[in-house]
Amino acid sequence: MTEQKDEADNPSLQMVDLIRKMRDGNALNAREIGFIVEGAAKESIPIEQLSAWLMAAWLNGLSIDETRALAIAMRDSGEKLDTSHLGKTAVDKHSTGGVGDKTSFLVAPLAAACGVAVPMISGRALGHTGGTLDKLDSIPGFRSALSLREFEEIVQRCGVAIVSQTPSLVPADRVLYALRDRTGTVEDPGLICASILSKKLAAGLRGLVLDVKTGSGAFMRDRDDAEFLAALMVATAESAGTQTVALMTDMSQPLGRTAGNWIEVAECVELLRGEAPRQNADLRELSLHLAGWMIHLGGQTETAEQGYSAAAGALADGTGLKVFLEMISAQGGDLSVFDDLQANHRPGATLALKSWKTGYISEMDTMELGWAVQRLGAGRLKAGEPVDPNAGIEFHARRGDHVTEGQPFATLYATTEALLSEPVARIKAAVTFSEEAPEDVPLISRVFVRETAEAYLRDAVR
Ligand code: URA
Repeated sequence: MTEQKDEADNPSLQMVDLIRKMRDGNALNAREIGFIVEGAAKESIPIEQLSAWLMAAWLNGLSIDETRALAIAMRDSGEKLDTSHLGKTAVDKHSTGGVGDKTSFLVAPLAAACGVAVPMISGRALGHTGGTLDKLDSIPGFRSALSLREFEEIVQRCGVAIVSQTPSLVPADRVLYALRDRTGTVEDPGLICASILSKKLAAGLRGLVLDVKTGSGAFMRDRDDAEFLAALMVATAESAGTQTVALMTDMSQPLGRTAGNWIEVAECVELLRGEAPRQNADLRELSLHLAGWMIHLGGQTETAEQGYSAAAGALADGTGLKVFLEMISAQGGDLSVFDDLQANHRPGATLALKSWKTGYISEMDTMELGWAVQRLGAGRLKAGEPVDPNAGIEFHARRGDHVTEGQPFATLYATTEALLSEPVARIKAAVTFSEEAPEDVPLISRVFVRETAEAYLRDAVR
């Protein structure tokens, strides 16, 4: 019925023709992409046709023009936030996705504590990576599906809100994001770029900091692919009027000590309280750099380094924690769970995994570790399924550490005993030991700004 109506509005466009065109490697124009996005947002194009189109796009890749058209059409698929009356500059950060990637819980309140507004539209678990919203759902009462009015009101009041796509806020990404997760069509630069930027541009941002993961746990494992994605996102966001930088950051091991749902929130609260164990020095450091860039792009400091110092100050004096708790409370979360972080963690099954070898941990296939986390119950097999807030892995050893057989390696938390064995096998297959210590990998390996991104794309042969 609805499909017939849409086809009547666009008499010359038929979804099957667009699938065939994409399948055969021909470029779609902005009108054709707009037709697909509108059909996704209104849920008028059948799921099997959207899936077929996504796979054709994944197999052939989207051109730079197609990517831009997709990002803009997805941005415009719903309502947009008007940040002009906030009295503060709106900036945000978004990651391309990783394992244990929980920086949002730190950078958003730290940047807000330093005077910028952070209207963050986030996502759920995608492929092997965890989702910010699934992690926040482990806080009883927390609501991320807010109306535009509530979203604006909380950003105004607390300086920050973290919300989901809804049927009215970037609805096209809501549909396509969940579908990509189920159809094996996540790892494509054009689709990732459009998905991320649709949310960020709909939030009316002045500045955007992108955390582009590279290494074994990134969607773009290959360094060149990750650089291309970073340059593509910076150039596309800049052409849409948002000042953007991309930091290429290490994902050759999980970020911080934990990967899962509640355990990641708890790890961040510990950091916001000033506890800084060695195992999450990378999480702390990266979060301060990302927040520093946000504070700088938001006009609060002259340089990103000064922004870093401001963020470190907000971490040290507790204002970051204060803003985080205000936001959680404003979004309905029960603050009493933070009284005792352990007491809110009630996994159905726990397993202490000891190191099965002696040697240096030289490599981690972090994507496999991410799948292990998802299979413990932290992610979903079908769209819309609930996830287990208690599931996840706490790592007791990091890449570069020397471990002895029998010493604690990781603790696994699952929904049931039956879910433990596959993740254990995945972890054992994912870790390589060596006699020599591996070389260090820099946490931040490159920064793209508009000029470098545009130059990169000019040179890139794609
Ligand atoms: N984050 C998103 O929002 N979308 C992607 O496709 C990947 C990461």
